Amino acid sequence: MKHILLTIALTAMILAPVSQVNADGSAANVVSVTSELKANPVLTSPDGRLVVSFDLADTESPTYSVQYDGKQMLEPSPIGIMLDMGAKPTLEGLPQGREAGWGDFTRGLKIVSINDTDEETAYELTRIKQASVCHAYIKRIIELTNEAKQTVFFEFRVSDNDIAIRYNVPEGRFRRSTRVLYENTGFRFPDGTTTFLTPQSDAMIGWQRSKPSYEEGYSNDGEMNVASQYGHGYTFPCLFHVGDRGWVLVSETGVDSRYCGSRLSDCVDNTYKVSFPLPDENNGNGTVSPAMRLPGSTPWRTITVGSDLKPIVETTVPWDHVEPLYETSHDYRFGRSAWSWIVWMDASCNWDDQVKYIDMAAEMHFEYILIDAGWDQNIGYEKMEELIKYANSKNVDVFLWYSSSGNWNDIIQSPINRMDNSIVRKKEMAWLEKVGVKGIKVDFWGGDKQQTMQLYEEVLSDADDHGLMVIFHGCTIPRGWERMYPNYVGSEAVLASENMSFGQGACNEEAFKATLHPFIRNTVGCMEFGGCFMNRVLNRANGGRGSRLVTGPVFQCCTEILFQNPIQNIAICPNNLSDAPALCMEWLKTVPTTWQQTRFIDGYPGKYIVLARQDLQGKWHVAAVNATDAPLTLNLDLSFLGAGQAQCYSDSAGPDFANPSLTELKIRDGKKCKLTVVPNGGVIVEK
Ligand code: CA
Repeated sequence: MKHILLTIALTAMILAPVSQVNADGSAANVVSVTSELKANPVLTSPDGRLVVSFDLADTESPTYSVQYDGKQMLEPSPIGIMLDMGAKPTLEGLPQGREAGWGDFTRGLKIVSINDTDEETAYELTRIKQASVCHAYIKRIIELTNEAKQTVFFEFRVSDNDIAIRYNVPEGRFRRSTRVLYENTGFRFPDGTTTFLTPQSDAMIGWQRSKPSYEEGYSNDGEMNVASQYGHGYTFPCLFHVGDRGWVLVSETGVDSRYCGSRLSDCVDNTYKVSFPLPDENNGNGTVSPAMRLPGSTPWRTITVGSDLKPIVETTVPWDHVEPLYETSHDYRFGRSAWSWIVWMDASCNWDDQVKYIDMAAEMHFEYILIDAGWDQNIGYEKMEELIKYANSKNVDVFLWYSSSGNWNDIIQSPINRMDNSIVRKKEMAWLEKVGVKGIKVDFWGGDKQQTMQLYEEVLSDADDHGLMVIFHGCTIPRGWERMYPNYVGSEAVLASENMSFGQGACNEEAFKATLHPFIRNTVGCMEFGGCFMNRVLNRANGGRGSRLVTGPVFQCCTEILFQNPIQNIAICPNNLSDAPALCMEWLKTVPTTWQQTRFIDGYPGKYIVLARQDLQGKWHVAAVNATDAPLTLNLDLSFLGAGQAQCYSDSAGPDFANPSLTELKIRDGKKCKLTVVPNGGVIVEK
């Protein structure tokens, strides 16, 4: 379907559209705009509900705004970019002329042309929430010039619930590279909007000076216009509740070695702006201003909009507008993994304990074992070859842990200094391939500067040469990486399960956090949480002193459905084969980790969530967890499961809390199902 008519109708008074053909052969609707034109036609999503306006009426500050179903979701918000093209402004003002060095695209802009095309995105990707994606969007490229007669293109892509915006910078006559000084891209929310935000930490603080690592708390229906915890704004993704109008999720995607990771600033006058990394990140090494070869493009700034939370939870915008950066010759296999470190901690990365975990992984039919920090010293490279052979003999493959360091933290957990230097890294990866290792977990990264993004990309690219998958910990969020890098698995970038092993506070908050992540962190990328404990006490003895689980065993299983990551590192221990509910252990033997589709059913961040995922064999897995103090009674339309008997796993109330039940649930067409979820408990329905 072509969306030419609307544009024509809105512009016919001023100018005549000219039909042209794009380079790819599709029809384009090019509109030549006279310099008198300050405003331009609105851009409407294929279903007509999402509307983006771009406004140059105030020459000092171009803006865009967003409406959904006629309601204002973003008020006029700043847009623009400031580039360093080689010269600095003088006291007399901006340098003038064709090759003037100061690329100010934040004001004084004039529209040269507007080019709209109808596009469709279609791709397969079993590592995200939906295996097969296909939907339409409208692409609009606005060509603008500034007072120095320099050109920039603002690109908008609008699908039914998502907006992606980027800046495209052409080559200049004498300029083939540039540095981005700042972006003026902002998000101004209506009064009364509340926030679900996680702050950006100070750099070079925390464990062995390894922050920032996207491991902070969340505001929960917080207010705008308050200072962030560290005064550095917020890390993506950022969720906003625009009162009874709906919800907005702001993030970014398409960041690779050619840019830095960005974040949102603190809020001023209801407005958050895209901000670059902190100077102190990466031990102060490397610039905060990304540099690009020209022609070049910034990453996408994404805005997901809905009247309810369904489009937020189900969005695929992080992958819709990026492309694979290299082909792989490997057929990567996903699945479940056992890892001793999460409960048995550092001391367990030795031969005897790893054999126990390999045996358990085999009995649980898990595909992998992850051997965490210290293996090089406690087991050693030579004995590791033998251990890998043992694991393989039991049909278990191996992931090994590495530190990313480097000169950007003080980490002593080893191996260190194997991933930061390309000469050493290539040797190490050749050894990993030779001994049959299938993946690496690389921990403790230096932040979001372009220099660190380059290292992420180098590690991924080199690892693929050796058939290695990569998990990141102590790291930034992925930004489209599931599609961009075929051997990328997942990232921590969350206060993950380790915090429960470290202390009771995270156990007490587990349910609350579990009802945030599917709405926020996990909406934009794979989340390596590493949960599903079956110990009631999170230590080796499963008793005595240690943090105690306050959630039920079915709740724990629910996290395998709620938290999406194509390889799940599961926190069960060998003793759980005999001391955990057999129901849950049997369930874990077959739980899938890759999905055909994901469906948001019900919930509210911080209170409860009901989420359904359909596995690649067509079976549905519905998970519901309750973070409130009262039993949660749900009346759900589960007819998408199809009529018939479903299996229903439930945590029990009262003294039987640790003893879950399995019952049959009859699904009838057009009839709702009543489910009760106890506080801190979970329910799983499967069919
Ligand atoms: Ca961590």
